[in-house]
Amino acid sequence: VLGRMMDVPLNVSMLLRHAARYAADTEIVSRRIEGDIHRYTYRDCEKRAKQLAQALTKLGVGQGERVGTLAWNGYRHLEAYYGTTGIGIVCHTINPRLFLEQIVYIVNHADDRYIFFDTTFTALVEKLAPLCPNVKGWIALGDAQPRPPTIAAPVLYYETLLEAENGELDWPQLDEQIASNLCYTSGTTGHPRGALYSQRSTVLHAYGAALPDSMGISARDAVLPVVPMFHVNAWGIPHAAPLAGAKLVLPGKDLDGRSLYELMEAEGVTLSAGVPTVWMGLLAYVREAGVRFTSLERTVIGGSSCPPAMLRAFEDDYGVRVIHAWGMTEMSPLGSLARLNWEQERRAPEARRHLLEKQGRPICGVDMKIVGADGNEMRRDGVAFGELHVRGPWVIGKYFGSEESALVHGWFPTGDVATIDSDGFLQITDRSKDVIKSGGEWISSSDVENVAVAHPDVAEAACIACPHPKWGERPLLVVVRRPTGQGLTREALLAFYEGKVAKWWMPDDVVFVDELPHTATGKLMKIKLREMFRDHVLP
Ligand code: ADP
Repeated sequence: VLGRMMDVPLNVSMLLRHAARYAADTEIVSRRIEGDIHRYTYRDCEKRAKQLAQALTKLGVGQGERVGTLAWNGYRHLEAYYGTTGIGIVCHTINPRLFLEQIVYIVNHADDRYIFFDTTFTALVEKLAPLCPNVKGWIALGDAQPRPPTIAAPVLYYETLLEAENGELDWPQLDEQIASNLCYTSGTTGHPRGALYSQRSTVLHAYGAALPDSMGISARDAVLPVVPMFHVNAWGIPHAAPLAGAKLVLPGKDLDGRSLYELMEAEGVTLSAGVPTVWMGLLAYVREAGVRFTSLERTVIGGSSCPPAMLRAFEDDYGVRVIHAWGMTEMSPLGSLARLNWEQERRAPEARRHLLEKQGRPICGVDMKIVGADGNEMRRDGVAFGELHVRGPWVIGKYFGSEESALVHGWFPTGDVATIDSDGFLQITDRSKDVIKSGGEWISSSDVENVAVAHPDVAEAACIACPHPKWGERPLLVVVRRPTGQGLTREALLAFYEGKVAKWWMPDDVVFVDELPHTATGKLMKIKLREMFRDHVLP
């Protein structure tokens, strides 16, 4: 027997339509690239998204075709999210921090029809346009400019396009399985690969993201995603915020500690989200300026492992709860978040902290297991570690443009190495290509790094495998000292490890550098580091 309920497809447009009706006057505040603050409401946002949909239709962009964006977090970018997907066009967010060749590859692979760009990217557009001949036009996110990019392809102006439209449109009902958004992985190995989300997966992910024990986004929140809208849809916040009717605060291009702090305070931000690197900047600023957060209650930290020292600083020094989260582009991206249940809340402080430092429990909708080299599932005892496999309605099945399944026996292999404990909490110990294989045993590079960054003189640390004649590989620690910690020596740092990790996990050597290489999304670029230290001789 079939159920007897309405067959209403899950469409991305329902999120904004709901907000425009039931959070109509709730604000969306953006720091524009011009530097000023722009504010309007969900009602205004939907109207302009509809105008954009009309304009794109007039330009001849059809259902299933891709339109790219090169833009910071701002209201026009948000309108682009909905003005495209609302009528079945695929919104393809492009990370402008990637190398030029990668962006060219991505634009051509996605076969983008048009590309929206913030005018801060004018120089980038000038380089890209000649290499992306199938893009029919480049749409500047603003009014007519004093200096448009000098390119052969047409340059259009967003505001001019919108002005010509009345916004009188009902979002069409679309098949929920059609594509909505396209995101490429940053391709730390090989070419970037596209994850093509569906209308259905995007809506389900928005529900999952908003749940109380996920980000817990409500109509009483003001949410500031620091994570860029070009990085896996800012972790779903542009979808989950309208779903919940939360105020949105979009920070534009200035993501330094001071700019973020001032915006958070001015707009009463309660919830934020971003990678550990940006929080290093914010914490450094509040520490130096001697200021406190008056509205910020919690912040989601993910994308790479949140160092326990950062968690402690937020919670103990500033009273801001940290929600450590794990996910990946292939998962839309949310997989798990560290939130405690009733009983866990009542454990001893150290035991609570220990759980909060992990990557947390899966959201309902994501199933997880860890498998060993033999492909068998491993024990959930918090000790056994193996490759993490996942499945669920917002997990990738095939990469964009490929007919080959990305799955192994129906599960997606993440390439992350992890444990799952008896509480069901996931802990990522490494990426499979980053683990250090010493004498046939595995050393978790992130555990070694976490000890280093807990040292008061250490700003950032990376642990990589260094070839070793006897053990195969041994850990080498590469460290950036804090400006105030220039006196830190190799010996002092190694002594700091005593009693904190197993003896054979101690780094064999420490090298101090001025900075570490990062990927376009702010993660340590270990491939580059391993190259740099390929010939390093361990003592
Ligand atoms: P990429 O860096 O490959 O472009 P993603 O941004 O999708 O793509 O990153 C996903 C990867 O980031 C995960 O597979 C995992 O290795 C890492 N990651 C994400 N969140 C965390 C976390 N909280 N702790 C440790 N690693 C994380």
